[in-house]
Amino acid sequence: MQFIDLASQYRMHQEKIDSQIKNVLEHGRYIMGPEVDEFENKLAEYLSVKHVVSCANGTDALVLALMALGVKQGDTVICPTFTFYATAEAIAFLGATPVFVDSERQTYNLCPKSLEEQIEKAISDPEVNLKAIITVDLFGLPANYPAIREIADKYKLPIVEDAAQGLGGQIGSKMAGTFGDIGTTSFFPAKPLGCYGDGGAVITDSDEVAEIIKSLRVHGQGENKYHNIRVGMNSRLDTIQAAILLEKLRIFPEEVELRNGVADYYKNKYGELYQLPRVPEGFISSWAQYTLVASSRNDVAEQFAKEGIPTMIYYKTCLHLQPVFETLGYKRGDFPVAEYLSDHVLSLPMHPYLVVE
Ligand SMILES: *Cc1c(COP(=O)(O)O)cnc(C)c1O
Repeated sequence: MQFIDLASQYRMHQEKIDSQIKNVLEHGRYIMGPEVDEFENKLAEYLSVKHVVSCANGTDALVLALMALGVKQGDTVICPTFTFYATAEAIAFLGATPVFVDSERQTYNLCPKSLEEQIEKAISDPEVNLKAIITVDLFGLPANYPAIREIADKYKLPIVEDAAQGLGGQIGSKMAGTFGDIGTTSFFPAKPLGCYGDGGAVITDSDEVAEIIKSLRVHGQGENKYHNIRVGMNSRLDTIQAAILLEKLRIFPEEVELRNGVADYYKNKYGELYQLPRVPEGFISSWAQYTLVASSRNDVAEQFAKEGIPTMIYYKTCLHLQPVFETLGYKRGDFPVAEYLSDHVLSLPMHPYLVVE
């Protein structure tokens, strides 16, 4: 059994994916070819959002989103501590300071109460220039946006939704990626909607933000390629990856359902044995990971291994305890729930073509 099986997906859809790639090889427009536009439009339609602006990867998408909000050296941005490093790295990359927030024990997502505490603490210091909140749809489950939006509005802070893992999730009929003022995602192969290399996108209803990102992703271009009005970067989605994503997006809604079938199977099988991930009423997860909590994680991992089931740990170290952020002065005990999770989580194999009884 494989933890994530990309080869089965390819075999099942090989003819169409091959023909998409062949098209690009024939027209030869490898950078910003017609498939890029087409994919952006199709994804925007699927998400019911005005703009999808693709870029080179999910980390760049976060950096671009923060740049569009004017985040710069000396600013502060809030994000969860129990997430993939790129969430906070994007903040630090721009010379801003991440302020971390604790997690919820049942959903593993950012805790709204801890969020408000950290905002209050930050704004009580006149030196701190708090610019934005980054939320993460961890393991595929949208964060608690009804509560988070209320807090963001109260303090007039924009939300950047890191939906690298969340694409395909929903709250009611609203799609993950559209809960922030700006959403970001990744098409890294192992994400719910993945390509065959690196890829990412920024998602927004704002015409202004979309315009800025479109400029920033090609060296801050103005009226044309050789007219530069901003310091940007080179961060584009390859045409071949866009072509592959067109085919992957077509099968994506069904794949999210298949992933939910696997999650239901796990729930029935292991519900009595471990703390399983909670999906709040009205929420849909895209199950980027299926993550349980076990008091003796190593024993449980060993047991699964004996049955031929591979397991992984996402994430073993909270970001406030990473060496790179040592100078920020956090210590063990600062975020007890997130620390508990990082010590006890264990992820089971998850992909749409996992064969379960
Ligand atoms: C994967 C991931 C990213 C970064 O995406 P890349 O495409 O690998 O740069 C950012 N945030 C989260 C939560 C992720 O899981």
